[in-house]
Amino acid sequence: MRRTVFNEDHEAFRETLRAFIEAEVVPVYDEWFQAGQAPRDFYYKLGELGIFGINVPEEFGGAGLDTHKFEAVLYEETSRAGVNFGGSGVHVLLALPYIKMLATDEQKKRFLPKFVSGEEMWALAMTEPGTGSDVAGMKTTAKLSEDGTHYVLNGSKTFITGGVHADRVIVCARTSAPSEDDRRFGISLFAVDTKSEGYSIGRKLDKLGLKTSDTAELAFVDVKVPVEDLLGEEGKGFYYLGHNLASERWGIAFGAYAQAAAAVRFAQQYVTDRTVFGKPVAHFQNTKFELAACQAEVDAAQAVADRALEALDAGELTPAEAASAKLFCTEVAHRVIDRCLQLHGGYGYMNEYPIARLYADNRVNRIYGGTSEIMKSIIAKSMGL
Ligand SMILES: Cc1cc2nc3c(=O)[nH]c(=O)nc-3n(C[C@H](O)[C@H](O)[C@H](O)COP(=O)(O)OP(=O)(O)OC[C@H]3O[C@@H](n4cnc5c(N)ncnc54)[C@H](O)[C@@H]3O)c2cc1C
Repeated sequence: MRRTVFNEDHEAFRETLRAFIEAEVVPVYDEWFQAGQAPRDFYYKLGELGIFGINVPEEFGGAGLDTHKFEAVLYEETSRAGVNFGGSGVHVLLALPYIKMLATDEQKKRFLPKFVSGEEMWALAMTEPGTGSDVAGMKTTAKLSEDGTHYVLNGSKTFITGGVHADRVIVCARTSAPSEDDRRFGISLFAVDTKSEGYSIGRKLDKLGLKTSDTAELAFVDVKVPVEDLLGEEGKGFYYLGHNLASERWGIAFGAYAQAAAAVRFAQQYVTDRTVFGKPVAHFQNTKFELAACQAEVDAAQAVADRALEALDAGELTPAEAASAKLFCTEVAHRVIDRCLQLHGGYGYMNEYPIARLYADNRVNRIYGGTSEIMKSIIAKSMGL
């Protein structure tokens, strides 16, 4: 079926990106993999390429667009090459929507030019050691000082993507206790400078996959956060999170579809090249059926991911629709990548083959941004159940 989401600008961007990945990422990707993170300098290159500024207004150094289509191309091209851009994905996908939605003009002037150039990398910290799915259960606190000039932040966060390199982190913290009838009340968001006294980075976590992405624990001990760095209104954090999680979940859905599509491509190539019992693996009917079934699933996931993209760009993607797209595309990717790995035999288990890395990278898609179980709860609620 003919795809209608992308125009010639997106295709031109695709060509540029593909050449950039070939020249700047593929040759050094093994080094990043071994080091457990992409180097900080790489993010300046992404800034130079204009990746961070696509959706930033021109007055702050961006291209002034308002679309997720270029991000979609990025997902497709990184997956196609079997690489990812480290923890930088959260900079645009997670952090930017909050800055655009909540920052005052003064904050935008302060934050956005450095955001666009890659000079200041951003991350988002919601999850805590004791609470992930249950966001309202967070314990990190931010108390306004008596003179009203700053908040005092105390607590800890975990699993924070980009947490090692981040220069600013959007930290979710309780500015007041939950009210009796609303557990969600009293959470606020802060753009915390990671160089602040009392802010520390704990372990860089050793993960099953996403080896080039830096995922960290963070701790805050009496960190002074100036009132100028409160994002949006005090106490409304849960509402802001609910609003922006739809775009995060679309991103995970689209990324998962792109990984599944890449897996089919890797497997098709492999079964054509690999000979067993004197014939290419592609010769067996089982191989053809497996790949055909995978392709049909990828086609369906692409249709869902594309439709969700159009709805997101039009400002119409509801939380339940985003949850549905995430649930569907990530479950498809899980099945497809597993079947494509199987067609690689033992080589599919070796990290030097992109299918092995895809398998490990993809696993987290059903967990982060809200687990599949939480997605089902959201969808069920929208059905009145
Ligand atoms: C690699 C990675 C990167 C991440 N990056 C970030 C980041 O940048 N920023 C950030 O804030 N967080 C991040 N996270 C955290 C992620 O969003 C959480 O791990 C996720 O929301 C799940 O929370 P949890 O790990 O506490 O699991 P839990 O909430 O403890 O869940 C455990 C199990 O219980 C199930 N469960 C929970 N509640 C229910 C329910 N109501 N009904 C049925 N089942 C339920 C879950 O589905 C799961 O199977 C990241 C996580 C990983 C692994």
